[in-house]
Amino acid sequence: MAEKLAIIGSGPAGLTAAVYAGRSFLEPLVFVGPAFGGQIATTTEVDNFPGFPSGLQGPELTTAMREQAERFGARMMEQTIEKVDLSQRPFKLWTSEGMYEVESLIIATGATPRPLGVPGEMDFIGRGVSYCATCDGFFFRNKEIIVVGGGDSAFQEGLFLTKFGKRVRIVHRRDEFRAGATLQQQARNNPKVEFLTDTVVDTIHGNGKVNEVVFTNLKTGEKQTSEVDGVFIYIGHDPNSQLFTGQLEMSDERYVVVNQYLHTSVPGVFAAGEIHDSHFKQAITSAGYGCMAAMEAEKFLASQE
Ligand code: NAP
Repeated sequence: MAEKLAIIGSGPAGLTAAVYAGRSFLEPLVFVGPAFGGQIATTTEVDNFPGFPSGLQGPELTTAMREQAERFGARMMEQTIEKVDLSQRPFKLWTSEGMYEVESLIIATGATPRPLGVPGEMDFIGRGVSYCATCDGFFFRNKEIIVVGGGDSAFQEGLFLTKFGKRVRIVHRRDEFRAGATLQQQARNNPKVEFLTDTVVDTIHGNGKVNEVVFTNLKTGEKQTSEVDGVFIYIGHDPNSQLFTGQLEMSDERYVVVNQYLHTSVPGVFAAGEIHDSHFKQAITSAGYGCMAAMEAEKFLASQE
C-alpha cells in the first residue's frame, strides 16, 4: 500500500509541513536527509523567528519543530532519498534501504552553500576553509579569520566568529553590503570586525592547513598576501534540485518552478522553501511555505478519494 504523503527535507519548510500534515492525519514520512534540520540547524543565533523574544539557537528551533511534528504522528526517517520516479502515481522514492511508494510528495530539500571556486578552496575544506561557523568556529580561537560575502549570512556568522578569532575581516567584492542595517551596525560597532571591500579572494594557500590568502582589489587590480587561518565562505546558496532533473520544471537557476499554491509541474508534487524560493529565504518564510504545501497536499489527496 502506498503511503499518503512523503516530505523530503527536515529544515523549517519540511518540518512545518510535517506538523500540518500530521495534524491532518496524513502520517507523513519525513526523509530527513544527510543533515537533520537543514541550514538553520547550522546557524548560531536565530533572532528573527517570531515567538522567541530572546532568540534561540538554530538546532533548538529544529529540534522543537521535530518534536511538535512527531506529536502529531509524523514519522522521521533517518534516510536520504537517492532517486525518484515522478512519472506516475504512486510516486516512487528510493533510499539506500529500499523503495517507498507515495500518493503525494512535498519537496523541501533546501539549498547548499555555494563554493567560491578559487584555487586552494577544495584542498583545505575542514583544514581552514569552512561553510559553517557554528560547526568550526571553535577551532579558530585567537586566530586570523576572514569571512567572504556581503549578505546577512556573512555578517551574522562573522559576528559569531568574533567570539573566537583575534580579528574577523569581512571580505566583499563591492563597497556596499546586502546585509540588513542592524547586522551592519553590530559589525561596525564590534572592535574585532574589519572590512576589506572591493576585494576578492584570489588564492588560498597552506601547508596542511590554511596559512595565507592572496586578495585582489578589484578597483586597483593590486594583489595583497595576508596571513589567514580561517576562511569562512558565505556567498549564497544553490537549490538542492538535482534529484528532480528532467522530472519537474525548473528555472534557469535550477529552482523548482511552482504556482502560487506551491504546485509543481507534476500534480501531487509540491515544493516548499529554498528549493523554490530564490527571493525571501528566511526560516519563517520557509516555515510558511511548508504549511501551504501541506494544506495543498491534503486537498489534493482528498480530491483523489
Ligand atoms: P546573499 O544575500 O545572496 O549574499 C551573498 C553575498 O555574497 C553577496 O554580498 C554577494 O555579493 C556575495 N557573492 C556572491 N557570489 C560571490 C562570489 N562569487 N564571490 C564573492 N562574493 C560573492 O546570501 P546570504 O547572506 O547567504 O543570505 C541568503 C538569504 O538568507 C538572504 O535572503 C538573507 O536575508 C537570508 N538570511 C537572513 C538572516 C537573518 O535575517 N539574520 C541570516 C542569514 C541569511 P553582491 O552583494 O555583490 O552580489
